[in-house]
Amino acid sequence: FTSAIIGALVALSIIALVLSLVGVEDVTLPPTVKYGMVFDAGSSHTSLFVYEWDSDKENDTGVVSQTLSCDVQGQGDSPHCPLAPTALIQAIPISLSHPDSFSGQGISSYANNPPEAGNSLRECLDKALEVIPAEKQRDVPAYLGATAGMRLLREQNSSATEQILAEVAETMQEYPVAFKGARILTGEEEGAYGWITINYLLDSFTKYSPKAHTWLHPEAANIFGALDLGGASTQITFMPKGSLLSQNEASEFTLYGYRYNIYTHSYLCYGQNEMLQRLAKELIVESSPSTRVCHPCYPKGYKETVSLSSFRASPCTDGSDPRLPLGDSTATLEGRGNASGCLAALRKLFNFSACGQSQDCAFDGVYQPPLRGKFIAFSAFYYNFKFLNLTERQPLAMVRQAIEGLCTRSWEDVQMACQYLPFIPKHSPPQLSSSYPKENPKRLPKYCANANYILTLLLDAYKFNETSWNNIFFQMKAGGADLGWTLGYMLNLTNMVPAEAPARLKGHRA
Ligand code: AMP
Repeated sequence: FTSAIIGALVALSIIALVLSLVGVEDVTLPPTVKYGMVFDAGSSHTSLFVYEWDSDKENDTGVVSQTLSCDVQGQGDSPHCPLAPTALIQAIPISLSHPDSFSGQGISSYANNPPEAGNSLRECLDKALEVIPAEKQRDVPAYLGATAGMRLLREQNSSATEQILAEVAETMQEYPVAFKGARILTGEEEGAYGWITINYLLDSFTKYSPKAHTWLHPEAANIFGALDLGGASTQITFMPKGSLLSQNEASEFTLYGYRYNIYTHSYLCYGQNEMLQRLAKELIVESSPSTRVCHPCYPKGYKETVSLSSFRASPCTDGSDPRLPLGDSTATLEGRGNASGCLAALRKLFNFSACGQSQDCAFDGVYQPPLRGKFIAFSAFYYNFKFLNLTERQPLAMVRQAIEGLCTRSWEDVQMACQYLPFIPKHSPPQLSSSYPKENPKRLPKYCANANYILTLLLDAYKFNETSWNNIFFQMKAGGADLGWTLGYMLNLTNMVPAEAPARLKGHRA
């Protein structure tokens, strides 16, 4: 009996020895595709992004790709261009009952009906389940992050904010995915995750050197900065030279074995929609008691009737401002198409004097170290410049010229450009983007204001100049994925941007 056991043990040892010699002990399962999903609940709209990657490459760089992006339909979404011919000769009065009324609805607009915020996500969740194989769905980490629209609502009505988050969480939990939370991001998280997304997709964090058989630290100057313009806030994030003098704006990450000290700041109320509202309010207050208000940034011939109660909807326009006429009266904004007047009016929205003599200061007394390196400008920075055909890195002088040209075009003329785009003579400045007809026509009268706002923000506030302007790339995609905070957020929460350098070669033999 004993010899039988010894014999079996010897046989087992021989088998183990043979198996180890042919390298079977290291055999790994073939890689499988993994998925993750993130809702970006912005101030003016919500989008769902589904990502995928190979399970065996999790810690490599640039391996995640975007499988799906889905825009949640808001009740306020309006028909697309081309406009009806009758609109060509009439000024369209638009009542801005809500700052985002021309651009769909973020979840914060459901403050009076939180369950609808949850329901609004269903269509995109259903679409996501169509692209993720059924057997994988239960393992898909699912997140929802809300940004400045919800930050603003929280200031006014924190219980409605909580209810909306609870409703969206409940809806997501009804789906067969691994729900990981629904929360409001801080502005600094929004900036930092956008910065991670960009540098991950552009592969700028780390590079493998086959010669040195090691991962190389990136040149700090090759790391991109991130410029994000949303509906309610704007973020600037970059890796400055030397150390940061203010801890408020400092974020530190150790990624792939290298420490990054980044500067990031988010300005609430400096998003595009809130800026338009703040501008309108200031112009109305300045013209008071007259309710006919000259608007330098709107095209000549365009009129817009606004209800003064709309300013009470956002903390950015400070409804309690004693300069605002009381009651539910209206004012009519009349376009003047005056580019220099528009720039001057926009500059007044920034408190530059709060910086005193300090060089390291942007505006409103906020610390900002000197700019460094290249920047990617995405979101509304991109949308507006795309409309103006200005995303091809034109010099600043050309950009100014194109924006001035747009501002001086009459409302009728701008609409003609929209309606009859293919027939516009080539020489008529500026050539509006051929992508325009897909856009929401209600944006059309706002492009002069938006474009001048972008100039003010980049040049006067962030301190880009004629030379550093050439370091800004207006871009919305990289490596097939959309630019925004969502990918960086998911990478961070699923530990896919590890602190250590990635393993280059797996130890398994064939
Ligand atoms: P958010 O919803 O916070 O991501 O903000 C995006 C901003 O871009 C909002 O102010 C939108 O109104 C604006 N936006 C979206 N699409 C366009 C477009 N095609 N042209 C101009 N602005 C846009």
